[in-house]
Amino acid sequence: MMCTKCRRREAVYLRPYSGEILCRSCFKRSIEMKVRDTISRHKLLSRNDSILIAVSGGKDSLTLLKTLWRIESRIPGVSLAALTIDEGATERYRVEGLKLSRKICEDLKIPHYVVSFKEYIGYTLKELWSRTREKGLELLPCSYCGVLRRRIMNTFAKDHGFTKIATGHNLDDEVQTFIMNIMRGDYSKLFRFGASMEVISGFIPRIKPLRYIPEMEIAFYAFLEGFKLYEAECPYVRLSMRDEIRFMLNEFERKYPGVKFSIMSVMDKLSKQLSSLNKTYFKSCISCGEPTSRDKCRVCEIMDLIKT
Ligand code: AMP
Ligand code: ZN
Repeated sequence: MMCTKCRRREAVYLRPYSGEILCRSCFKRSIEMKVRDTISRHKLLSRNDSILIAVSGGKDSLTLLKTLWRIESRIPGVSLAALTIDEGATERYRVEGLKLSRKICEDLKIPHYVVSFKEYIGYTLKELWSRTREKGLELLPCSYCGVLRRRIMNTFAKDHGFTKIATGHNLDDEVQTFIMNIMRGDYSKLFRFGASMEVISGFIPRIKPLRYIPEMEIAFYAFLEGFKLYEAECPYVRLSMRDEIRFMLNEFERKYPGVKFSIMSVMDKLSKQLSSLNKTYFKSCISCGEPTSRDKCRVCEIMDLIKT
């Protein structure tokens, strides 16, 4: 079957929500265009930005690395570097991700930094989990892993003079988070899911250029790019509610192509209207001084639980 875009080459990808059937090069170009379009529409980058790309070694962050690298030359003064955080979950999981990240950064000549939970927080994720279980705390690793990872990224970016942090969150991640916040009744978080960056003193702005690209398409892009994807997933993911929501959303998407985009468009419209009504006020954490909406930040709260 011929590509419906160029009408010249053999098609390899059927996009159920648009009806397009694309060849390799039209498919790859469509992903890169989507990233460029997201960046310009939401003004995610400006001249002379120094971007720290959060790279776990998974398909999303490697795709982010490659697409930003392609775009970099078109935006004057923009520079790229990558950061991998070694959580210390289990050996195999991170070692493979690290190797892949290092290899691709070398190929693209992008500086690559690696830092660990252990050096920033004093514990690996595995140690943190044993400690919470010893204390009989009902805390799943995913509930604090993300919080600690974001703190490390922010601190690292501040210390090294980066002006933006880019993460590989895709359409599925964003929609899952939204549904999860609703299911948990986490009302306050519902004002913070917009496409544009929030500018908050003490936080390096975070951008998500893959936010409008379905996970499936990123997986296919990564496959076409020849990224060697490692089988291992985070050993703790199966414990999370997110995983159940992912399954449910995929079932709906299969039956009704486009539902993820519909949810995302509601998110964007809501956030535009609600964010001006519900401003979150930030202050300094009484314990560490980092910006937070509470008296004591989540990181210090978690560390208190672990230590006492
Ligand atoms: P996840 O929360 O695992 O879906 O990851 C979302 C995004 O966070 C990824 O696409 C990366 O950009 C970033 N990320 C996740 N884990 C790491 C890590 N260990 N080191 C650096 N960045 C990460
Ligand atoms: Zn704190």
